[in-house]
Order: sequence, then structure tokens, then C-alpha cells
Amino acid sequence: MSFVYNADPERGQEWERQFALHAPDMAFHHWPAYEDPAKVRYLGTWAPINDLERFNNLEVIFSLGAGVDQFDLDAIPRHVPLVRMQEPGIVATMQEYVAMAVLGLHRDLLSYIAQQRESVWKTRRVRPASQRCVGILGLGQLGAAVAQHLVRLGFNCRGWSRTPRELPGVQCYAGEEALADFLAGCDILVCLLPLTDHTRGILNAELFAQLPHGASLVNVGRGAHLIDHDLLSALESGQLSAAVLDVFAPEPPPAEHPLWQHPRVLLTPHVASMTQPESAVMMLLDNIARHQAGREMVGVIDRQRGY
Ligand code: NDP
Repeated sequence: MSFVYNADPERGQEWERQFALHAPDMAFHHWPAYEDPAKVRYLGTWAPINDLERFNNLEVIFSLGAGVDQFDLDAIPRHVPLVRMQEPGIVATMQEYVAMAVLGLHRDLLSYIAQQRESVWKTRRVRPASQRCVGILGLGQLGAAVAQHLVRLGFNCRGWSRTPRELPGVQCYAGEEALADFLAGCDILVCLLPLTDHTRGILNAELFAQLPHGASLVNVGRGAHLIDHDLLSALESGQLSAAVLDVFAPEPPPAEHPLWQHPRVLLTPHVASMTQPESAVMMLLDNIARHQAGREMVGVIDRQRGY
């Protein structure tokens, strides 16, 4: 029985160490160096692999990230489940990043950075977090945990999902019909949706117009959720006051892209959260044990929904 790893080679060394510690009986190989795909039962990969038919004994594909939009679901044989990464390390690092972004927007950090560059000493009204409402698009593994973290920081929090959710201290909205009500109260909007046919381009002019004037945006979902041009127009008109963007389409954005230099935009290179091998290996091995015992794995992608 063998497992093949196909992602960042440096982190692959840590994955290999963790496998040696916790699953010494399972052969661990690195792709594309490993030359015997027919022996592979489990594939852990960030990106899709070409010629998947060579892996003719493959039983499960594990996405090493939480999102699976990089995969062509139709190209994966029906009998091979695709499982996304659900593990505490991704959640904890996403909570940190969104807290950083939301606190930075809440306390007007972009203005103070600009002022410092100009040696300007000018104070702005400070309000407590309890007077700010943060709305989270997506209340799954990440959105729900982020919302609860923001509640602990004192923010008013609301969330939007496809099906109804209940979260302590979070006002929950569900479905297209509730989107306008949800948006109307969001001072800061955080996108933590998966990228699907239904969510592509959702961060657009029509949506921005439904936010309170001067709201701000944090996009940690996927770059293709956002229509860049609509964001630039909303920043220009003042409908949006600032944005923190971690994801882009394409990544990185071209050197001449106006978002790079925009004074009201903080841009990071897709680092909001990262799978942590120490905790991820335990989740993955638990899923392999479930699969071998004929039990349901955690995080199996519903191909119909696309997430
Ligand atoms: P989950 O699948 O656990 O949660 C997705 C949430 O989005 C669910 O609440 C779901 O609703 C909701 N949703 C999906 N489609 C719709 C829709 N059409 N309308 C309304 N709500 C919808 O995903 P995760 O929380 O694990 O991850 C979310 C995304 O975060 C990933 O897909 C990835 O794109 C991104 N990500 C970004 C990272 C970064 O570093 N920037 C790192 C990791 C992930 P319901 O609850 O009803 O199913």
C-alpha cells in the first residue's frame, strides 16, 4: 500500500517525517520522482496530475488544500473519491489572518500606513469592535471558525451560507433570497466561499452596491470570486473604502495590475492559511483508516455541488 505526495517539496519532507512517525507501514513516495504509479493507492496532491489513468489502482485523491477548484472533477474517475483537507492547522491560520485583516480595517491601518509615509500626525475616531459588523460569505469549516473567532474579539458577526446554519453569537442567513439583507448590514465583508459555478464572480459591482457606503472587503476565498475592475470602481467611488486581498486570478497578478500599487489595498501572496503537516497527516491517516474500514471519510467532495 503506498501513498504519493505531490506538492511543495520542502513541506513534503515534513509530510514524510510525519508518515514515518505515525504510519511506518505505509510506503511514502514523492511525485513525480516515483516511477510506479500503478502501486499507488492514495494520492495527496495540491494540483491535478496529468495522465491519471496511469494510477490504475488509485483508491482516493486527497487535496492537500481546503479548496478543490483547481481540479477538473469530470476528469477524476467516478469510483475515486476526491477528499478536501479539513484540519485544525488550516483553520487556526485562517482565523489569525482574518483577525489581522479585520482588525487592520477596523482600526484604519491603511490610512495610518499612508500617513506615516507622509510624516502626517492625524488621529481618527476610534470605535469599539462591538460597533462594527463583520459579514462572512461561507460558513463552512473556515467561515464558521472565523466568525466565532471574530465574535470572541468583540465584533458583531453575521454569516451567509447556501443551507441554513446555526452558530452561537452569529446572525445566520441562507440562500440567494437572504443575500441582500445579509449584505445591508456588513461594514466589513469577508469572502470564504469555495469557487464554484455559483460563486464565480460573486464579488461584483451589484454586490458591492448592496453593502453600506464605505464598507470594506477581505477576499480569502479565490481570486475568481472577485471582478477586479468592479472593485477598483467601487474604491474609486468610495462605495468601498479598502480591501485586503490574499487571492487573485491569475496568481500573481501581472506587474502592471493597478491593485499592486493601490493605496487602499493590502495584498498578500495567497498565504492566509496553510495546511500544517503535523495536524494534516493525522486527519489524512484517519480518513485512510475510515476508507479501509468502509466508513465515510471526512471532507468528501460532492461533485454535484462542486465543493
Ligand atoms: P467548506 O466547504 O467547509 O464551506 C463552504 C461554505 O460556503 C459553506 O458554508 C457553504 O454553504 C457555503 N457556500 C458554498 N456555495 C455557496 C453558495 N452558492 N451560496 C451560499 N453559500 C455557499 O469550505 P472551507 O470553509 O473549508 O473553505 C472555503 C474556501 O476557502 C475554500 O474553498 C478555498 O477556496 C478558500 N481557502 C483559502 C485559503 C487561503 O489561504 N486564501 C486557504 C484555504 C481555503 P453550506 O454550509 O450550506 O454548504
